[in-house]
Amino acid sequence: MRLAVKLSLLLAGATTFPLLLATAFTLPSGREALRSQLDQIYAQAARALAAEVNRTLVDKLDSLTLAASTLSLATLDPEARQQALLLIYKETRGANVVGLFDARGDAIGREIHFARLSGELASEHEPVDGTSLAAYASKVPLNGALTSGLAMGPVYMLPDVEGKPVPRIVLAVSVPGTQRGRWVLAVEVSLRRLSESFERFRPGERGAAFLLDSEGRIIVHTDRELMARQLNLRDHPLVRGVQSEDLLGANATVPLLGWKVVVQEPADEALRPLRHLQRQSLLWLALGLLVAVLLGSTSVRTVTRPVDKLRQAALAVTGGALETAVDVKGRDELAQLGDAFNTMTRGLREREELKMTLALSETLELDEVLERLLNSLDRAVRYDEAAVLIKGRENMELVVSRGRRTKEEASRIVPSSSHVDRAISSMQPAMNEGRQMLALPLIQRGEVIGVVCLESHVPYDEATARLALSLAQPAAMAVQNARLFDQVQRLATLDGLTGTYNRRHFMDLAKYQFDSARRFEWHLAAMMLDVDHFKSINDRHGHAVGDQVLRALAERCRSTLRSVDVLGRYGGEEFAILLPGTGGHPAATVLAERIRARIDEEPIVTDAGALHVTVSVGVAGMDESTPEVETLFKRADVAMYAAKQLGRNRVIEDRPQAQKPVA
Ligand code: GH3
Ligand code: MG
Ligand code: MG
Repeated sequence: MRLAVKLSLLLAGATTFPLLLATAFTLPSGREALRSQLDQIYAQAARALAAEVNRTLVDKLDSLTLAASTLSLATLDPEARQQALLLIYKETRGANVVGLFDARGDAIGREIHFARLSGELASEHEPVDGTSLAAYASKVPLNGALTSGLAMGPVYMLPDVEGKPVPRIVLAVSVPGTQRGRWVLAVEVSLRRLSESFERFRPGERGAAFLLDSEGRIIVHTDRELMARQLNLRDHPLVRGVQSEDLLGANATVPLLGWKVVVQEPADEALRPLRHLQRQSLLWLALGLLVAVLLGSTSVRTVTRPVDKLRQAALAVTGGALETAVDVKGRDELAQLGDAFNTMTRGLREREELKMTLALSETLELDEVLERLLNSLDRAVRYDEAAVLIKGRENMELVVSRGRRTKEEASRIVPSSSHVDRAISSMQPAMNEGRQMLALPLIQRGEVIGVVCLESHVPYDEATARLALSLAQPAAMAVQNARLFDQVQRLATLDGLTGTYNRRHFMDLAKYQFDSARRFEWHLAAMMLDVDHFKSINDRHGHAVGDQVLRALAERCRSTLRSVDVLGRYGGEEFAILLPGTGGHPAATVLAERIRARIDEEPIVTDAGALHVTVSVGVAGMDESTPEVETLFKRADVAMYAAKQLGRNRVIEDRPQAQKPVA
């Protein structure tokens, strides 16, 4: 997983976890608190309604008892009794019918009731028609009243003019009658007010309260249909005091009557605040998460961006781009890390330079120095093609090259490139227009002694050019050393005056040739050449002219000899020549004679004018009796002396049988 993703998740988790934890703890306890609060409210409401029911009915019974005891109905004449009953009708709120019965249930006088009402009466009483009257008559609790003095009939429903069921009940009180027995005053009371009271009471929008009688039958209910049918709700959970998942509420029993008031509210409505709270918590949680992710990803990016840059830089360094550096902004830990990284790459570069310096100083061979330079450069600066030019006598010459081009191709293309010229003239790294070719001057003592030319398919930048130059510079010193070494070597092997091999080196070569000839049975011959009366040339014209003569003689020998022949200055004015593959007689003698003639025939031009010079030459060929190379030269030397003896300016061949002059 990427660092940014990991950190973002971590941050989002850290931010939202406490929020989640808080929600997980507060929501259930909030739910509990709300439930117990609701339970209290429901119980209180139910109790209040029950008290109201109780009050309504008990008040009525009380006033009825009072009326019955104060008005001596039996003693009144029928007219006055009717007036008294009318009074009771008027005084009793909700009274619909007021009647008087004897102990057998026969009506005494006419019941007080009105089929139609208007004015103040209409708001206090229900109109009563024939059906209502019959219902009333059937519900009078005659026996109850006679035995206990006071009784309530069953509740029954009758629709009002609008068809709305109105619960009614007959309250009966026994009153003193005639000698034949007690009478019963029976008043039908409408429970409309109570019903309206229940209707008005509404816990929440869809909550309700209803009233059941002691059997469980409906007295008051919001559902007219159920109410009209007086359905039995005995099994309703709230009646049994049980709250369900759907319904919350409470019940209360009306004292004395045994009726039950039930208050109910759908659970989803009652707990809506909690759900609202839940929804809000979730919303905040989601919002918190979103903010955490946004905040996290932004803050994480401020951390991961520099880390990513460092990663890329580290990868580049691993790939060899030691010139890589990162931008360092600010002073925090990341900036310090960037700083440390730059210091580290600087150290690596320096180490690479040092390694190169050490590697280059180990060798004095120019080719090897340059090969090592390219190896070391390869580790630090990428290239596809590379070539190194070294200043020769006249111009830059390609010494080593790498890549797909052959050395010849490279020699043709590289030295003539304009950026190479620029590098030489400015003594600074130079690139071509596409920046894919880079020329690095090798500078030694203020002079460009060579150019390293690199080519890459990826363009170079200034930093790489600077790094490459700093890496290549130690090579300048090594190249110079190698060139000096070349010169020293030449000094060690060549004779400074004539450019021929000096005696020591000549003898080394001669020994090698002698051994090879021995092993492979090749021919080998030697010549000794001495200038005649050279002392007198010196004496007559001076030492410098003598030197001129020696140089000219060496040149004439060289031009006459074959490339395989080896010429060396053996002594002062004495030269030795080795002729590999040439037998003593007559080939070597013929060659010696050619040399002698060439010197003899043409005067040597000197500062003192043209001088006629002659030489005496001794020749000897290798045979079985020649144990070592010195013997061969000894024999040639002897032959040369013989030539001197015989009058000089001649060639004498050392032959076992006879020594006879050729010329
Ligand atoms: P010859 O060999 O014919 O017998 O006579 P010569 O005069 O050549 O005899 P000698 O070997 O005695 O003289 C050699 C002279 O060469 C002596 C020395 O001064 C001179 N000589 C030796 N080396 C050099 C040199 O490098 N330069 C010059 N100018 N003279 C040299
Ligand atoms: Mg001599
Ligand atoms: Mg001589």
